Amino acid sequence: MAEANFINEINKRRTFAIISHPDAGKTTITEKLLLWGQAIQIAGSVKGKKGPHAKSDWMSMEQERGISVTSSVMQFPYKGRVVNLLDTPGHEDFSEDTYRTLTAVDSVLMVIDGAKGVEDRTIKLMEVCRLRDTPILSFINKMDRDIRDPIEVLDEIESVLKISCAPINWPLGMGKEFKGVYNLVTDTIHVFTQGQGHMIPDDIQIKGLDSAEAAELMGPYIDDVREEIELVRGATPEFDMEAYLQGKQTPVFFGTALGNFGVREMLDGFVECAPKPLARPAAPREVAPEEEKFSGFVFKIQANMDPKHRDRIAFMRVCSGNYHQGMKMRHVRLGKDIRISDAVTFLAGDRSAVEVARAGDIIGLHNHGTIQIGDTFTEGEDLKFTGIPHFAPELFRRIRLKDPLKTKALQKGLQQLSEEGSTQVFFPKNNNDIVVGAVGVLQFEVVAYRLKDEYKVEAIYEPVNVATARWVDCEDPKKFDEFKRKCADNLSIDGGGHLTYLAPTRVNLSLAQERYPEVRFRATREH
Ligand code: GDP
Repeated sequence: MAEANFINEINKRRTFAIISHPDAGKTTITEKLLLWGQAIQIAGSVKGKKGPHAKSDWMSMEQERGISVTSSVMQFPYKGRVVNLLDTPGHEDFSEDTYRTLTAVDSVLMVIDGAKGVEDRTIKLMEVCRLRDTPILSFINKMDRDIRDPIEVLDEIESVLKISCAPINWPLGMGKEFKGVYNLVTDTIHVFTQGQGHMIPDDIQIKGLDSAEAAELMGPYIDDVREEIELVRGATPEFDMEAYLQGKQTPVFFGTALGNFGVREMLDGFVECAPKPLARPAAPREVAPEEEKFSGFVFKIQANMDPKHRDRIAFMRVCSGNYHQGMKMRHVRLGKDIRISDAVTFLAGDRSAVEVARAGDIIGLHNHGTIQIGDTFTEGEDLKFTGIPHFAPELFRRIRLKDPLKTKALQKGLQQLSEEGSTQVFFPKNNNDIVVGAVGVLQFEVVAYRLKDEYKVEAIYEPVNVATARWVDCEDPKKFDEFKRKCADNLSIDGGGHLTYLAPTRVNLSLAQERYPEVRFRATREH
């Protein structure tokens, strides 16, 4: 393979996730992004044969294939780039799954409901992005509704999320009077046409805010609009690539996901500015995407994604080199070389066998129980990608079976669900209880549902006297033995085989920490 081509392929990759509060429009915009991505590809490949019907052919094909935007990973080509979109779970509980997915991307798209502004979950997700200074591009959605004053929305983003806003385009009117967006950089109006949400609309442009066409479009509002734009130019900073890449400034686009308008401008801006695959922290050294040897890490495990494939998939971000079919990888934690013949990619919702994947791409490995979240794979080097944590759960329940004969199935189910990060499970050393831990309360419901659905086990939750958990270790084996003997009633083994201290109260935890200063009590555990 030519060196230049290898680098070129990496530089084409854009790997990102969407963060938003529920209902802001994440699903809708994902659909539209796939429309844009697929249309380019399919229209390009069938145009010669079918002429002007290419687009509608594609639409029926999408319907037939039933592209599901609930897929965890979607890949689509756009303007010579390869875009990887990683989905994050939509429910309200702050979830570990989301956190880990954000460790596998190079940037994020923040979608904000223009009528509601900055909401809770966006604030939390933003905190997570902050930890790694992830670059953020913003889309203010629902311009076809009566939203809040856009200046006010930007002020809110700046003050609440503490990030400077550089609008790239500006909305012309809103709700019924929404006329389009004005690009502040190119001095071009992109005109909105209603009722084109399901297609690739033509890009109707008007050059210059001072033009006669602009005046005609805006009618009686033209003077107000010109004044407002003047004000916006004065009050907002110009886009600064460096500041964006450092996570200090966000370029802002306006539009309507439902109307599929403003999405093109946003996506064009995204593939232009968003970072290509970045280097990843690892021990003992950082890994650059351009390195020729393959490496990657697992950030998510999901069971039974597709009823047709009843298996578990480990999602791996490729960090360097190439994955190619049939290659040998070292499973570093196990110190074993394994041949991977059937990894999958996620080309717009379709699981297909992948032949080559490069830095920035996500591949799915069939997991038969040997892969855990956080595992590193290489071409032989002893590396360990870092920064993919487990959080100590905050909520605990004892889980009990309705049918005691199903103990094996319950253990297997819980083991798998904990591996995939859906819950955490603890087996106390001194009794036969099984304790389930969660970060958010919804997780319990999901686990009970999935146990029943996938493992045919009906389980009941009962309260248990556990307030918090800490992973424990100690460098002094003698002191550790003493601790293990004296605190046996509080110790358990978690789903990954790690010793854990289950504290009935916070006070109990503080006392134990005071009594055994040599023992480390960790609230997060690196995989
Ligand atoms: P999610 O929860 O963030 O995935 O949000 P959805 O994409 O499911 O959207 C929530 C609701 O808002 C749905 O009823 C959408 O049809 C609607 N919606 C999304 N985008 C727009 C938009 O641009 N304009 C309007 N009027 N409604 C929208």
